[in-house]
Amino acid sequence: MIYIHVPFCKSFCTYCDFYSEIPGAGMFESYTDQVCAEIRRRAAEMDDELKTLYFGGGTPSVLPLSHLTRILLTLEECGHGGPYTEFTLEANPEDIVEKGLHYAESLRQLGVNRLSMGVQSFDDTLLRWMNRRHSAEGAREAFRLVRRAGFENVSIDLIFGLSNLSDKVWEDTIDQALALGPEHVSCYQLTVEGDNILAMQLENGEYEEASEELCRHQYDVLCRKMAAAGFHHYEISNFARPGFEAIHNGGYWARRPYVGLGPSAHSFSGRGRSWNSAVLEGYVQTGESLSVEDEKVETLMLALRTAKGIDGEFLMACCREEDVHRLVGEGALCQVGRHYRIPEDHFFVSDEIIRELV
Ligand code: SF4
Repeated sequence: MIYIHVPFCKSFCTYCDFYSEIPGAGMFESYTDQVCAEIRRRAAEMDDELKTLYFGGGTPSVLPLSHLTRILLTLEECGHGGPYTEFTLEANPEDIVEKGLHYAESLRQLGVNRLSMGVQSFDDTLLRWMNRRHSAEGAREAFRLVRRAGFENVSIDLIFGLSNLSDKVWEDTIDQALALGPEHVSCYQLTVEGDNILAMQLENGEYEEASEELCRHQYDVLCRKMAAAGFHHYEISNFARPGFEAIHNGGYWARRPYVGLGPSAHSFSGRGRSWNSAVLEGYVQTGESLSVEDEKVETLMLALRTAKGIDGEFLMACCREEDVHRLVGEGALCQVGRHYRIPEDHFFVSDEIIRELV
């Protein structure tokens, strides 16, 4: 599993806390040189068990095709080239529309077989408030374009948990996303973190955080609509048509090793985690090993986010049996074969449930 972080955005979204830069002269060249050097340096760490490649960001669709090609050729030269079981690229709808059909077709030719489109909302007022570059129509146009280019696995990202998101707009956003017929939908609850624009607005009293009750309501609406449309709610924030569950992200939740390349990318070796510093020039890798206790907690936390849940024997070995039985009695855990999982109607409070267990 290989993750490549592309730390460029043409503008910054109100709520964003990821590391990213507005591209300037020579930046793509320098970034690509460093990622290619890192691939050569770390090729021995890459394992091809799942054989997935994921370009995340930032905004990978900002990176020119010539640079993307150079990175792919370097992977090939180091013995980790395609075809990949799953090759995902995160794309901004505006880039797809601006660069056009030829760009989308070229991505396909380069082996990308899954696109993850950051749509976030189908309401233009909210999109402007988020400082997104695209409009609702832009997102629809981008979706049509990638379909014309032959993409058969497209994921749409949405955001909920906003105090200025009305029921009507939220329902309409989900309906419009579903009307496009994506194979996958990821939906994240907005959190105010770091020192982004939203955090400033919150401090100035220009924005009020959504109440827990409102977030829960928006999440319930989402779960209901996605189930009615036949989607499998396979992880707290992810819904897929059967057979289109994300393989790469599934690897994260199963704690498979992965190599993260590029500024601010994280890696997991199976025994320890490491991360690259969040600077464009001369980023360096630091890391830490995990204690046996850390590993148990991580395994539990990640597995209980999924519909598959956690192996019953493992759960009983790391938690107090009476806590497990009490949570089962309260309906906060249920047993499915050899596994225990958090039922969908308790996904929203999974953090509290996991805290009670560990
Ligand atoms: S496009 Fe993504 S990474 Fe860039 S500012 Fe917006 S949310 Fe952050």
